[in-house]
Amino acid sequence: MEQEEIVLGSHVSMASPDFYLGSVKTALSWGENGFMFYTGAPQNTRRLPVSSLKIEEGRALLREHHIPDKNILVHAPYIINLANLVKPSVRELALSFLKEELERVAAFSVPHLVLHPGSSLGEEKGKAIQAIAEGLDEVLEESSSSVTILLETMAGKGSEVGSSFEEIAAIISSSRHQDRLACCLDTCHIHDAGYREDDIDSILEEFDAKIGLSRLKAIHLNDSKNPRASHKDRHENIGYGGIGFATLYRYVHHPKLLAIPKYLETPYVGEKAPYAKEIEMLRSGKYIENWKDTL
Ligand code: FE
Ligand code: FE
Ligand code: ZN
Repeated sequence: MEQEEIVLGSHVSMASPDFYLGSVKTALSWGENGFMFYTGAPQNTRRLPVSSLKIEEGRALLREHHIPDKNILVHAPYIINLANLVKPSVRELALSFLKEELERVAAFSVPHLVLHPGSSLGEEKGKAIQAIAEGLDEVLEESSSSVTILLETMAGKGSEVGSSFEEIAAIISSSRHQDRLACCLDTCHIHDAGYREDDIDSILEEFDAKIGLSRLKAIHLNDSKNPRASHKDRHENIGYGGIGFATLYRYVHHPKLLAIPKYLETPYVGEKAPYAKEIEMLRSGKYIENWKDTL
């Protein structure tokens, strides 16, 4: 059997005039065989009708390059907070947005939507976890799509929920729709949350015991600007941070992670996108010292 290529991409923007077609073109130009995008601005919930987003043109180009739709991931806006029990009206808006977002994701034929679980805003963690699970159930029950929501592992900034595998597992096990819930592991976030991200075998063992490896559907591959357990969440370019190239390379090529798509969310270098270079190095294993200077 032919060995499938490792799926490696990055966050890609989707903008006028070419929208999804433009995102696909950009990803291809960076040597990616998958990518992640927001259906609109990440910091707000204003969205254009899907009919204006050149979805079919984008999908046709993907097919031309033998890239399946499942290599693509949508990220929900980070202002969505299903744990907001302080302002119920805000939580209601988040719920109705998420319902629509699931339909939008389905319109792209993308199977997965990644979501930050939420922030407890001073409430008890247990209550926040319940609120998230209930919110997810409400959203999934009213959706006709079969999109799976990936809960992202978080750095534990402020009152973020999901900075431990236990919390992610607790959300999933509190839901009535566990078949529609899975997980996205962010290397910067687990490092900032205090995990020994460099001991990948132990990480995967613990992930498997608490959440189940079959629920690991995507990896966000980022270096971190801060030391382990800093609870900061500031992404760094590959090789420039506290995680380092060698460990990130091992995530890409680890035998248990070969089938999991991986997406970079590393910062631009000035005006320049770093992804083509980062992906080339992560595929080949050949790290170029001070590679930013060569962009
Ligand atoms: Fe995220
Ligand atoms: Fe992430
Ligand atoms: Zn982050």
